[in-house]
Amino acid sequence: MWDVAKCNFCGDCFVQCRYVDYDREKAISEIKLLAAGKEADILKHCITCVACTEYCPTGADPSDLVFKMQEKTGTAPLVMNNMPVRESLAKGLEGQGDPVEFIPGDPDKPVLSLDSFEYKNFPEGTLGSRLFQGMTVVRGPQYMSLTGCVHMGGQSFVEKYAARVIGKLAELNKDIVYIHNEGYTLAHVKARELGIDVPFKYQHLFEYLLDYLKKNQRDITKLDKKVAVQVNCATRWLPGQDAWLDDIFRLIGVERPPRRYERRNALCCSGPVIGINREMAVDMQEKNVQDALDCGAEAMITICPICDAVMRRPTSRLGLPKLFITDLCRIALGEMAWPDK
Ligand code: SF4
Ligand code: SF4
Repeated sequence: MWDVAKCNFCGDCFVQCRYVDYDREKAISEIKLLAAGKEADILKHCITCVACTEYCPTGADPSDLVFKMQEKTGTAPLVMNNMPVRESLAKGLEGQGDPVEFIPGDPDKPVLSLDSFEYKNFPEGTLGSRLFQGMTVVRGPQYMSLTGCVHMGGQSFVEKYAARVIGKLAELNKDIVYIHNEGYTLAHVKARELGIDVPFKYQHLFEYLLDYLKKNQRDITKLDKKVAVQVNCATRWLPGQDAWLDDIFRLIGVERPPRRYERRNALCCSGPVIGINREMAVDMQEKNVQDALDCGAEAMITICPICDAVMRRPTSRLGLPKLFITDLCRIALGEMAWPDK
């Protein structure tokens, strides 16, 4: 959450933003305008990648301020373009959209939350995999993780609906495993910032996979592959999750080759800009995949269903297999074969 008291107006956030070309003086003037509640040039260029929150050395959370101001002014292309989407999401959160879905499982196992995603947004066989066998599964608009609403000009959705979404999951009276890291972000970062109690235990998908793989090490065949990673925006709120991913890779014999666009320097999948600047989106996608190929990657993993859908076209066009993280683990466990190009 934006905290003006932590900001020293150094300008690092927007100097490092890869989607504008500001010198320090311009960056400082932009953050000062926003902090004063005024319109600023950055609002129309920001693609909501959340990276500046990771770049900020003081924890002031500048991307939150940008998203608040984008919603308040309503002038950014991304905000104007997505008004119907925001209205539809609000209806779903109010219980006027699709009903929630619930697949009952073993009472002793945790619940797998799919967020508001549909089953088809995950690779075929995901729910039938041994990874999630016997788990209760829930999905639907009322379980939406909310943090991604910033891509549509809906920063306020977190404040408005976080308690309701957490309450809906609490009704299940079970531990929760979030298959999408934005759900974990809502519980672990945003709810805390808003002082909302989370009355259940919860796990990030990577934590869950790591536990599962450690318990089933005898079934793992080391893959001996180089794999590039396409992280999503929520990673910026949870930089520590990279360490879990590195541990998963070590366990299954995968090398994450150093490349230009990763970790702090990762590129957004381009999902938020496809509807407003297709040319820019395609350019970002192809630079990203080419970079992975150039560093010797034999596949690229995704960790978010939106990134996964966005990266389908460029990875297929440039001949780099794309795998959702769960499928990479399933290959190591012998449930699937390594994909053809
Ligand atoms: S938000 Fe952070 S990076 Fe940006 S000006 Fe303030 S302290 Fe510097
Ligand atoms: S969220 Fe991303 S695009 Fe927006 S200002 Fe921050 S770094 Fe730039």
